[in-house]
Amino acid sequence: MSAEHAPATDAEESGEEDGRPLVAILSGAGISTDSGIPDYRGPRGLWREDPDAEKLVTYGYYMSDPEIRRRSWQMRRTSPTWEARPNAAHEAVARLERSGVPVRVITQNVDGLHQLAGVPEEKVLELHGSSRSAVCTGCGAASSMAAALRRVEAGEEDPACEVCGGILKSATVMFGEQLDPRVLGAAVAVAKACDVLVAVGTSLQVQPAASLASLAAEHGARLVIVNASPTPYDALADEVVREPIGEALPPLLDTLRG
Ligand code: ZN
Repeated sequence: MSAEHAPATDAEESGEEDGRPLVAILSGAGISTDSGIPDYRGPRGLWREDPDAEKLVTYGYYMSDPEIRRRSWQMRRTSPTWEARPNAAHEAVARLERSGVPVRVITQNVDGLHQLAGVPEEKVLELHGSSRSAVCTGCGAASSMAAALRRVEAGEEDPACEVCGGILKSATVMFGEQLDPRVLGAAVAVAKACDVLVAVGTSLQVQPAASLASLAAEHGARLVIVNASPTPYDALADEVVREPIGEALPPLLDTLRG
């Protein structure tokens, strides 16, 4: 993560922005399925169900096997992310933020659709990183995924870091990698400070999303869960919504603008 994309500081998470309640949106794969992006990494995600595909996003295999890297670059090249547009749910979150309500987005998604909808970069905490950036595993240099993919298109099957020649990967958290402690720390601060946490499109079966929801509730936040299927935290929630996200989220967030 580059400095200009650093998470909002703790001071900003006090919920004191012009005295209005701080709203945290915790989003998972379910918010992006209407945009044509399938669930890859959830408990029943595509990668988890296909051991061969899972290797392409597992750090150890990626680093040790050039063939895995070549296939990973082809997968990135054809990702539905590049054609995807924000849907009604992403737009609703951006509208809430624009209305002046203090909003922080904590997302398990790597598609960047919250930002494309208009939520400022510094208000989005990407727990699993971003597929729109590349990073060098050697020197840590960050670069644009679009630029790396142009090199793949031009014939480089496994483009190396242009700074040090090291192995380049997507700036996403692969299986076998740790979450960025700065992003996780900022997400914990938001969960503790928020007045409302809306968990949307996440099964709350994967850490740290699950514990962020319970942490918010323990610290007195109103917990709202919008998800197609039951989650382990439904009993803890103040409100559970089962309707399709694209229909349910816009009116729900509109009520928070008042
Ligand atoms: Zn490098």
